[in-house]
Amino acid sequence: MNIAIIGSGLTGSLAAISLANAGCRVDLYERLSDEELINRDRTYALTHSSRRILQKIGIWSYFVSNLVPFQYLNVIDYELNKKFQFLINDLNNSDQKYSAVGWIAEHKNIMLSILDFISNIDNINKIPTSVIPNTNNYDLILAADGSNSNTKKKLKTHSLNFNYDQMCITAKVLLRGVKSNEAFEILNSDGPFAVLPLGGDLFQIICSQPIEKANYNMSLSKALFLDYLATILPNGVQPDTIIGVPESFPINFILNYSFFSGKYIFLGETAHKFHPVGGQGLNLCWRDVDCLAKLISLPILRNNHSIIPFLYSLSRFIDVLSISLLTDSLVRYSRSNINIFILPRKLVFFILKKSSFIRKNILHIMTNGI
Ligand SMILES: Cc1cc2nc3c(=O)[nH]c(=O)nc-3n(C[C@H](O)[C@H](O)[C@H](O)COP(=O)(O)OP(=O)(O)OC[C@H]3O[C@@H](n4cnc5c(N)ncnc54)[C@H](O)[C@@H]3O)c2cc1C
Repeated sequence: MNIAIIGSGLTGSLAAISLANAGCRVDLYERLSDEELINRDRTYALTHSSRRILQKIGIWSYFVSNLVPFQYLNVIDYELNKKFQFLINDLNNSDQKYSAVGWIAEHKNIMLSILDFISNIDNINKIPTSVIPNTNNYDLILAADGSNSNTKKKLKTHSLNFNYDQMCITAKVLLRGVKSNEAFEILNSDGPFAVLPLGGDLFQIICSQPIEKANYNMSLSKALFLDYLATILPNGVQPDTIIGVPESFPINFILNYSFFSGKYIFLGETAHKFHPVGGQGLNLCWRDVDCLAKLISLPILRNNHSIIPFLYSLSRFIDVLSISLLTDSLVRYSRSNINIFILPRKLVFFILKKSSFIRKNILHIMTNGI
């Protein structure tokens, strides 16, 4: 099968490897150089669903030495002043042996490993341009050109689209008073924020807050920004030094009504983009890739490839919709600090703290999708 992939971000590149492994001939179109693809300052939380996908295509062993595992995921509700933890025991039995609730990955490391891997695969042809000269040459065309996808615009694909009135600030910070194997998800009335371990005392802060406040915080000197961080970090955790320069980006929600149009298939952020809370983004993008690779590997579909786009769209619907609802609910939960919500909020937190059954199920959805 001849496949064109538009976009060589983390979704498009992984799709190229998975489909080449499934026996397809892949042309991978990308407008940026490898250097530009690698030099993005982003940090991802990887779950066991991503670990399994990377193991299946034989790339996990290249990744794992660059990942930072965490054994504790602390969830803190500032409005209630309460905390509970997801632990390794809350994972499925088969995942527990990896001794990690999840892993933190820096973009540079994983993009570099993936591009290295691609350079050794014969049936992937990298084409440094943004225009496919002749679309008739391909059985399927995968649009993995990101949330501002031109392919989607050209095909006039409709989606549910809205902006959160929030910005996300990311910063690398040396912290005291926190173990190097714990991560935090903090629910705060400004918006949720995460503290992710990067090894030793270095942590990534991913903090969502109202646009005006975020703009103000981004205008602060490093010393004043550190003082600000000291006011929002959990009790006993102190920020020491900011490494590099904090960055910010707007947060929006995009969910396509359909994940295909004719022989075009929408993968990753071309199909869906959510709030960064919960660290679901990249894991969901890679589950799209895995689902498509499974369909393309089915011998019965090899000669009927025109139904693959429809089957893919159908197969991905529940997982993507559930994660979008879960993520959006978490944002709304975090920001609902008016009195009538306090009682239900206390109840939710009490149940999560006391019931390992509920905790296991929530962690299962966050880790493996649906
Ligand atoms: C500013 C920013 C910060 C982020 N920070 C985080 C974070 O801290 N943690 C996290 O988990 N997630 C973060 N994300 C989301 C995360 O980057 C994505 O989930 C992940 O990169 C997967 O995206 P993708 O490959 O689907 O799309 P992208 O990464 O957007 O890749 C799309 C690729 O397509 C290429 N392209 C576009 N148009 C064309 C064309 N016409 N022809 C050829 N190529 C084309 C682009 O150059 C790009 O390389 C962030 C996103 C942004 C925009």
